[in-house]
Amino acid sequence: MSTSTQVTRAFILRTVDYRDSDRILTLLTRDLGKISTIARWARSSRKRFGGALEPFALLEISLSTGRGHDKMFALNEALLVDSHPGLATDLDRIGCAALVTELVRELTPENDPDPHMFDFLREFMSLMSAPETVSVKGLALGAVLRVLAFCGVAVGIGRCTVCGTPVPQGKKAYFDPHRGGIVCTPCGGGPTLLCAGAATALTLMEKRDLDAISTMTFDNAVLDEIYSVIDQFTERQLDHPLRSSFFLDQVK
Ligand SMILES: [Zn+2]
Repeated sequence: MSTSTQVTRAFILRTVDYRDSDRILTLLTRDLGKISTIARWARSSRKRFGGALEPFALLEISLSTGRGHDKMFALNEALLVDSHPGLATDLDRIGCAALVTELVRELTPENDPDPHMFDFLREFMSLMSAPETVSVKGLALGAVLRVLAFCGVAVGIGRCTVCGTPVPQGKKAYFDPHRGGIVCTPCGGGPTLLCAGAATALTLMEKRDLDAISTMTFDNAVLDEIYSVIDQFTERQLDHPLRSSFFLDQVK
């Protein structure tokens, strides 16, 4: 059977050791969507991929497909485009990047390219690595809201998720993860009452672009409230908690 080679840009979503010397990577690629690929000799020879196979790195990769009945892509070459060095030494930033990466991996279908999602993840990684970013947790929560929306499970924020009544600005609001977001009092409210600051910040995170969110300052108590309801919402969507959220709880 013939082989064909394809070049695309990619982020590593997960790596798993395979056999003695190989590694299986789950990648988000710009042109092929989420795929699995085998990186042969990635563990036995660090020179093989020049140390490019690091978490959160933007890569340019060359892949082969079509060998025999093995449907998995084989990674031929990986060049580092941006290692996002600002992510290397800061536990908060690593935890936030891991959370968003895990959500993308869990919710993105295989072999279904979405260049907008890819470009969004690229922008997120750049901002998460940038020293100028004011609130890394605010940026991560804004990114989580956007990833959920990209994947068709947007959090209901601007309107009551039951009756559609617009949520009043600057007021406390009930959040119900089982009903998908904010629920007004006449519709029964929800288990969590967000303070007015958290309800307002949630609206801003949903509306603003990532680069605007990266310049904003958030109160820590407000971030904790939002993080808690988004964590419950994603756990409900995935039927299991995100592993990275345990990590974020640890560094908090
Ligand atoms: Zn309602």
